[in-house]
Amino acid sequence: VEDQPPPDPSKKTLVVLGTGWGSVSLLKKLDTENYNVVVVSPRNYFLFTPLLPSCTVGTIEHRSIMEPIRNFLRHKKASVRYYEAEATKIDYERRVILINDDSDIKGDVSSTEVPFDMLVIGVGAENATFGIPGVREHGLFLKEVGDAQRIRNRIMDCCETATFKDQTPDEVQRLLHMVVVGGGPTGVEFAGELQDFFNSDLKKWIPDIKEKFRVTLVEALPNVLPMFSKQLIDYTEKTFKEETITIRTKTMVKNVTDKYIEAESTGPDGKKQVEKIPYGLLVWATGNALRPLVADFIKQIPAQKDSRRGLAVNEYLVVKGCENVWAVGDCAVANYAPTAQVASQEGAWLARMFNQMAKTHEIEAELKELSVKQETAPGKEARDAVFTEIKELQKRLRRVKQIGPFEYTHQGSLAYIGSEKAVADISWLSGNIASGGTLTYIFWKSAYINMCFSTRNRILVCIDWAKSSIFGRDVSRV
Ligand code: FAD
Ligand code: NAD
Repeated sequence: VEDQPPPDPSKKTLVVLGTGWGSVSLLKKLDTENYNVVVVSPRNYFLFTPLLPSCTVGTIEHRSIMEPIRNFLRHKKASVRYYEAEATKIDYERRVILINDDSDIKGDVSSTEVPFDMLVIGVGAENATFGIPGVREHGLFLKEVGDAQRIRNRIMDCCETATFKDQTPDEVQRLLHMVVVGGGPTGVEFAGELQDFFNSDLKKWIPDIKEKFRVTLVEALPNVLPMFSKQLIDYTEKTFKEETITIRTKTMVKNVTDKYIEAESTGPDGKKQVEKIPYGLLVWATGNALRPLVADFIKQIPAQKDSRRGLAVNEYLVVKGCENVWAVGDCAVANYAPTAQVASQEGAWLARMFNQMAKTHEIEAELKELSVKQETAPGKEARDAVFTEIKELQKRLRRVKQIGPFEYTHQGSLAYIGSEKAVADISWLSGNIASGGTLTYIFWKSAYINMCFSTRNRILVCIDWAKSSIFGRDVSRV
């Protein structure tokens, strides 16, 4: 095994924080020969989040949608350093990142600093709880692999505990009530997967729970999936009703205890009422909040004083008020929704820009050399030859410098809603096609297979789909 070469002092150090959609699509397209590239992330793999809801019930195994970052970085032309660590502070004035090894095994050194000349922040977002008491203690989120594993175990724990000998009827009812808070795509896709799990597997394996297993989706707004067109919202609500998933709209959760949630709902007469809803499993999917690292960075930059939802960036993804700092994905606010689609387009655009910047510097250095050469060239003929070369290079420089601002191309929204149905709002030419149903589900499957990170991931996901349809999902609790 070759040792990694030391950083090249003639190149700038580009530090990339995170290994999610934004950072990895940047690293995929970046010509790493131009910079000393350092990646810092506590997660040493890329996670294909669109299929994460399927891991909560075992339709797909989590490792099938993970791609080790080491595996992918070793294929880059120039070596990239990766540190498995959390960035705990960006010290903008000193141009250093404080990093901390958060893993179970720690060496003599577990926190240190990484200096940077250029910085890309792609740390994503945290789960929003809006400070509602009890959410962190009793609810389960759905963002990371560990979350999906916890949910999968909790579902089985609830089922096994509900069928414990002499269990009381009230407790059986509570334990088999699966509550999902948040009617965005995360909550809807999870509720759909859960109902599938019940219909195709749980019912067969544990007939005792057949009549008592219930899924409820709680949403504060008047409808679920607000980013989809009206007809798809109606279609989703109708499908859920048929699947016996109860949707409670205009219902806002205000408090969470270990056994029930307290929710305020608005009745048809406009009157508000608070009720206690007992649950066995509570999945909390109410969107994004700032990571502490980002909140602290915002405080350091006066131009960011009004940033609430993330780092305000300009059309070149430069963090406003900073030099040589860019932000991509869910931690950046560029007037787009916090989606994988946006993050990956931002990352890819930034890679192109960095590649162009390096080319620009190269040409500018060549031009400098040529102008010296021109002055010292012996005779008119030699000077003219250099002059022609300079003109050519200047033309190339103009071409290279022509990189327009980042522009997002929306390709559409897709969501799985259970019982082999999906909804899709697809941008087509200058219009929009809204479709829902089984054909859309086939489209959803092929689109996500296409988008998987690697061929290895694609094959593993297809094998998982085949496995779960032939043998059923695995109900063991580990
Ligand atoms: P992330 O992908 O979240 O990556 C953040 C990275 O930063 C991670 O590697 C993390 O470990 C790292 N990190 C965190 N803190 C630190 C730190 N302090 N220092 C260094 N590194 C740090 N979007 C779609 O467009 N289509 C979908 O179908 C879709 N489905 C989704 C399903 C689920 C269940 C979820 C949760 C999200 C889904 N999304 C989808 C949204 C999409 O996943 C996010 O918008 C996307 O992940 C944002 O990319 P990102 O790079 O900003 O952040
Ligand atoms: P979201 O922000 O889209 O939805 C959260 C929902 O929770 C909102 O509708 C909100 O009204 C509701 N809510 C908030 N507080 C509540 C409370 N106290 N009680 C009841 N309801 C409450 O969040 P998400 O679904 O996690 O999605 C996050 C981002 O990831 C979005 O940009 C989304 O588009 C993207 N995503 C996309 C897909 C997809 O395209 N298939 C899947 C998952 C996530």
